[in-house]
Order: sequence, then structure tokens, then C-alpha cells
Amino acid sequence: MVKQTIQIFARVKPTVRKQQQGIYSIDEDEKLTHSLEIVLPRDLADGFVNNKRESYKFKFQRIFDQEAKQEIIFEIIAKPVAESTLAGYNGTIFAYGQTGSGKTFTITGGAERYSDRGIIPRTLSYIFEQLQKDSSKIYTTHISYLEIYNECGYDLLDPRHEASKLEDLPKVTILEDPDQNIHLKNLSLHQATTEEEALNLLFLGDTNRMIAETPMNQASTRSHCIFTVHLSSKEPGSATVRHAKLHLVDLAGSERVSKTGVGGLLLTEAKYINLSLHYLEQVIIALSEKHRTHIPYRNSMMTSVLRDSLGGNCMTTMIATLSLEKRNIDESISTCRFAQRVALIKNEAILNEEIDPRLMIVRLQKEIEDLKAELAMATGEQRTEALTEAELLQLEKLIASYLEDQDPESRLEVGADMRKIHHCFHHFKKLLNDKKTLENTVSSESTRQACQEPLRDEEYTKLLGLLKQRDNEINILVNMLKKEKKKTQDALQNSSLEKSDTRPPQNSPFIAGSPAVPRTPFSSALSHAQDLSICKHRSSLLHKKTGMREEMSLGRQEAFEIFKRDHADSVTIEDNKQVLKQRFSEAKALGESINEARSKIGQLKDAINQRHLQQVALGISENTVPASMPDPQEEKLRAQLEEEKGRYKTAFMHLKALKVEIEHLQLLMDKAKVKLQKEFEAWWAEEATSLQVNSPATNLQDAVKPFPQQDQTQLLSKKSSQDLEVENEAGRLEVCDRNARRILPSPCSNQQSQEPSGSRVLVQDRPLSSIPLTGDSQTDSDILAFIKARQSILQKKCLGSN
Ligand code: ADP
Ligand code: MG
Repeated sequence: MVKQTIQIFARVKPTVRKQQQGIYSIDEDEKLTHSLEIVLPRDLADGFVNNKRESYKFKFQRIFDQEAKQEIIFEIIAKPVAESTLAGYNGTIFAYGQTGSGKTFTITGGAERYSDRGIIPRTLSYIFEQLQKDSSKIYTTHISYLEIYNECGYDLLDPRHEASKLEDLPKVTILEDPDQNIHLKNLSLHQATTEEEALNLLFLGDTNRMIAETPMNQASTRSHCIFTVHLSSKEPGSATVRHAKLHLVDLAGSERVSKTGVGGLLLTEAKYINLSLHYLEQVIIALSEKHRTHIPYRNSMMTSVLRDSLGGNCMTTMIATLSLEKRNIDESISTCRFAQRVALIKNEAILNEEIDPRLMIVRLQKEIEDLKAELAMATGEQRTEALTEAELLQLEKLIASYLEDQDPESRLEVGADMRKIHHCFHHFKKLLNDKKTLENTVSSESTRQACQEPLRDEEYTKLLGLLKQRDNEINILVNMLKKEKKKTQDALQNSSLEKSDTRPPQNSPFIAGSPAVPRTPFSSALSHAQDLSICKHRSSLLHKKTGMREEMSLGRQEAFEIFKRDHADSVTIEDNKQVLKQRFSEAKALGESINEARSKIGQLKDAINQRHLQQVALGISENTVPASMPDPQEEKLRAQLEEEKGRYKTAFMHLKALKVEIEHLQLLMDKAKVKLQKEFEAWWAEEATSLQVNSPATNLQDAVKPFPQQDQTQLLSKKSSQDLEVENEAGRLEVCDRNARRILPSPCSNQQSQEPSGSRVLVQDRPLSSIPLTGDSQTDSDILAFIKARQSILQKKCLGSN
């Protein structure tokens, strides 16, 4: 059992504005506890905050200032928790702080760079690395991802759902068993056998979360997310299984309701968030006070789920995220106060061990057998039925291994069955008799031979001939070996020139693709290099989500292209594309050098074998015992081999890490694409609605009238000559698109606008009512939405480029 208080850490988010400096300071005293002092600016101390204390001091295990990188956060905060999970203890890391203070950044990571990946992906990486290293146990890993919003739980990993609303996701409910253990009904658990699989699940959940979020439910700031790694381990042959859970929790923003200043639905939500965090606070207070018997875990779903993590069987760590700007001072102080309370809570983590029922049954069956036998012996009750064939065979095997065992302490365990004991004695007697008879025959044979006369002549000549024949054979063999030796020396000279053909020799154990090749760490490198292409084949669900665009009409696609070009995220996507390209070529180069090293290893191994044979042959031909002195040539070859193996291993590890990075970057890009798509859809819908509300063209007949006759006939003739185009929505938008091009000034190019600045007036002033329409209300609203969209994009662009 490990007793310890909840560890608290603070992380300060980088501030944009320089003038915010001086608001806080970080001290590290002799006892290595860190304290954060928040200094109230004079104007705030004078009025806004009631008590006029000028500064507040808070103690933390450690405080990470603005420049702290994600790596150090993982090393100091998360790694120890991951280690205890691997040892079989439950662990929780939760981030607490106001919206925008960096909770998601710390727990999951930034959306842009690989180096910004947060605690979850780093922990997954660490856990899988450790599992691979430890072959003494059998591990299984499962992942679940739960979102709690407005007191309802949602499964973010349900593969059957294509959620577009949070409510579409399966609802998770809480069940409590008589022992007051919490069970989550409907929360799916997914096995992950590799880091990549786990990473895919994380991104799937995050993407689901993003898609399900609407402007009305800013779920990312108003919900709690719990990513859980379920780890079980077992020693081979043992019936005891250890279960450990690691919760990585991104809590809702801790800001107070009064501050959010929202009404209607949002207020209800704010109240709820506040409620569940308020209940969390109540639980924390109850736990930190001595002599409290009732802890109000049941008040909210979140506290029920995290029950074990707070004041229970768990190693728990809290990260207080702070955005220390002037306007956030009061929120930051309340976050720190909360952390101080949390630090008082003591947890008692125990190993969660369980007996595997199947293995237990086998064990118990054997015990019953043994006990029955003992009972029979004790009561004098004899078992009369004969031992079966199988039982006899097993008994004899036992005796054989007992006799072979050199250990004088070894015992022959046959249980308390008298039949078996009798059989053992019987068998021993038989063996003893057999041995005696054998000894007698051998001794009589040797005396008989000793008494015989010396070998007869003809036998002598026969043996002499045989000896000669063997001599000849040896000579032939020695010649063969000499030839081989010469060949190897030539080969060695060639290879030392480093220009030799790097193809593995035909009998090399490392021929790529050879079915006989065992999957040693070396041979699997190639498959790793090949696996890189498999990186592309990622979670189909995530792909489906990024593939939404294919269903768009052509006009919408074009609008999307323009939207995308203007969007800030497209820079990130482009940047990541470049990085990805670079990583791919690095991976390719690494793959090649791994192959080279592998064939070199093969060659060196061959050369060593040859050298060995030569030495033996030499010994035979010169009739000398092989020298016990090490052969310098062979030593040199071995050194080269070790060096090559080292190079191979380094490149292999590098390639493995690169593979994960590539996967992560691709997932980041996929997520960014989904986000872009979602924002476009929202913007498009908004444009269409505002158009329908604002434009006089809602009366579509009116809209057609003011349009110059000539243009309208032009449009009609276009329409008739391109019937096919008009058949579908895409076609209609094509038509409208061409007209839009006529109406609108040519788009300001990305680089430099060629348009006179006056054209902007044209864009803005052109009445929508002068737009050619088809008369079909659905089509026309599509046309109008599109034109409006283009106009607004163009306006934005023109304004931006000036
Ligand atoms: P929260 O989840 O607490 O609402 P986020 O993690 O979303 O806050 O952070 C808000 C913004 O600040 C994001 O754009 C994020 O990338 C950025 N950010 C937060 N912490 C850091 C940090 N330590 N370094 C760089 N950027 C950060
Ligand atoms: Mg967040």
C-alpha cells in the first residue's frame, strides 16, 4: 500500500503581452518546495478585490513557468504516475483552471507541432515502450474516452456512431454495485496493442468531441473529458491478474458563472459546469477536513467517476493551469486556493490483484485430487481400481526426470495415492534389476573377449585399408577447405574496400521476405520500414470524417477552397505537410541504411563462419590442436559485426520513433482538416440563413425582375445549352458560379490585388436582387448563398490585402 497526498503542480501559460510581467514571482526554497507569489496590481488591490492584501503565496510541488516545454511536464508530472500504473496502481492526472489557461494543451497537446504533444500521447508512448521491454509479464491495454457534459456521460469512442451532435453519441450511465464500486454502463473499451492504435483512438475521440461541439454547447470548455488507459498484467502461469487504471482528465473551465455573463441556455450550462466543479470542490473540502465521515461523491457524475482518484485507491496528481494576466488574477488566485485544499487529501493506493477464474479452476481441481488421495490414505480406505495408461505413463516420466535430476534435494511428488506409491517402488525395483543384468552381461562379455586370441590377419588388413581410406578422405577435405579459405580472403579484401556489392549472400539468414526468416528485432526492421506505408491506413472513422468534402457540390467545393486558403489553420496544415514530407524522406533514407547494415551483418557473419572453418581445417591438416589464443582476424571481424549491429539498432530505434511522429502528424492534419470543414459548414449555413433573412430576394420572383433582359436571356441560353449541368445541384452552382464571376470583380489574388480600390464598392453595393435566378427556390437559395459567400470572402480578402 502506498499512502501519499495528492501531488499538486502549477503551470503558467505564456502571456502574449509583455506588460503583464511583475504580476507573479516563483520562489524555490531550500526544502525544494516551490512557491508562487501573485502580486495584486495597485489598481486592483485598491478597489476591485475586497480584501486589500497585496500579494498571495501558494506552495506547490513544483511550478512550471511560461517557457516550460511539454517534455519536462511529462517527465516530472506524468512519468511517475505512468510508472506506478505499470506497477499495478491506479493513477489520475487532472488539469484544473479557467478556460484558456492551457488544460487541453497540457493534457492532450497543441494542434500544430509534434513537439507540442501533451501528456496523453507521451504517456501512451512511454507505456508501450515499457511493455515492450518487459517480457516477464503478459500485458493487455484497453482505452476508453468519456465526456461528461451537463451531468450526462458520452462515449467518445463508439465506432458505430457518426456523431454530428453530442446527443448522438451513446449515453454513458453510472451503476453502483453493493460494494459501492462504480461501473460505467455503455462506455466502450478498446484494446490497443500498439502505440499507434492507442494514438488513433485518442484522435478519434478528440475528433468526435470537436464534431459534436456546436456554438451553443461549447463542449470543449464546458465539459470534462476523461481518457483512461486500462492496463492488466499477469505473470505467465500465474492465476493472479493485476488491473490498473490511469485517468487523464481535462476538466471544464473553472471560471465562475458570474464571470461568464451569459443568459438563457448558456446560463443553464454555466450553472451545470459550475455545479459539477462546485461538487468537486465540496468533495475536496470534505476530504481535506478530518473527522468527516460522509463524502458527497454521489452529487455529480464527475465526482462519482473520479471517486477512487480523490481520497481513494489511487496515486493522484493535479495540475493547476494559470493564465497569469491582470484580468485573470482573481481566477488564478481561486485556482491556486483550490490546489492548496487538494494538496491536503491523502490517498491510499493498493495493488488491484485478482485471481483469474480459469486458472484457479485448474489449480483447485488438482488440489481436490490431492486431498482425496490424502483422505483415502488417512482413513485407510484403499483405492482399488487400477491406474490408467495415461497415469502410468505420467508417473514413469516423473520417475525418469527425478532420476536425471542432479539435485540431491529433489523430491518425487506423487501425492498420497498408495497405488502410485506402490507403482513407483515397483518401477524402481525393475530398473535396479535391469541394471544388474546389464552389468553382468558387460563383465562376462569383456572377460570372454580378453580370453580370445589376438586379431586374425585378414581382419588386420581390412582395418588397415579402412584407415587408409579415411586418410584419403581427410586429405580431400583439407584441400577443399584450403580453397574455401582463399575464396574468403578474397571476399574479405573486397568488402574491406567498402565498395563491395551490398546484396546479402544467398544463404544469408537475413534475406528480405524469406519466409524462413525468423522475426528477430533485426529482420523486423524491414517490415517497420514497410509499415510506414501502412501509417496511411489509419482509423477508417477518422478518414470518413475527413472525406466529407467529396460529397460537396462543385460550387461549394470552390467556396471551400477559397475559405480554406484564407483560413489560419491552412498554414498549419501546409507546414505539417512539409514536415511530413521531410520525415518521409528521412524514414526512407533510414530504411535504406538499415537494409545496408543488415546485409553487412550477414556478410560479416558469413566471413566469421568461414574463418572458423579454416582454422579447424588448418588444425586437422597440420595435425595440431586448435590454438586457444584468439584469432586476431576473427576478433577484428567480430568487432566489425558488433559495430554494425550497434548502427543497425540505432537506426532501427530512430525509424520507430519517426514512424510514431509521422502517425501523429498525419492525425493532427486529419483533425485540422475536419475542423476546417466544420467551420466552413457553419459559416456556409450562417451565410445562407442571413441571406434569407436580410435579402429582399426572399421573394424570388422579385429578384429576377430587375435583372437586365440581356443577361437573363444569356443565362437562359446557357441553361438550355447545358442541360446536363442544370440536372444536378453541382451543375446549377456551376452556372451560378459563372454568373457570379461576371457580377463580381475578379478576385483579388493572394499575392497582390490588381483591382482598383473602387471595385470594393462594387462588390459591396451590387444588389443581390440583380442576380440571375432559376426560379426554383432551393436552387436559388443555394445560388444566393454561394454568391453571398463569395462576396464576403472577396471583401475579406480585399480588406486584408490592403
Ligand atoms: P483550456 O483547455 O484550458 O481552455 P487550451 O489548452 O485550449 O486552454 O489553451 C488555450 C490556447 O493557449 C490554445 O491555443 C493553446 O495552444 C495555447 N496554450 C496553452 N498553454 C500553452 C503553452 N504552455 N504554450 C503554448 N501555448 C499554449
Ligand atoms: Mg480545453
